[in-house]
Amino acid sequence: MSQNFNLQEHIAKGVEKIVADTLKATLRDPRESAFMVKFAAAANRATKRRLELEKEGLHVPSFLIASITSACNLHCAGCYSRCNEAKVDA
Ligand code: SF4
Repeated sequence: MSQNFNLQEHIAKGVEKIVADTLKATLRDPRESAFMVKFAAAANRATKRRLELEKEGLHVPSFLIASITSACNLHCAGCYSRCNEAKVDA
């Protein structure tokens, strides 16, 4: 991995791509599109703020994953949680 690799910028670009792809997926529904346009603007503001704070030495995560239960009745391909047997069938 390059010494110039910036994880924050990498994650920020990933979030931007997810938001852009989601916005494209909503183009058939004006209400969903309107929501996503607002969400995209908020996400862009948040990204800029996170990057500013990172330069000041404060790391603010770009997202949070909350696993509020260890039970799950889904079986997603590539489940990150089942690979270490942290999940059980609901
Ligand atoms: S990734 Fe794993 S824990 Fe998450 S919803 Fe899918 S099967 Fe359930």
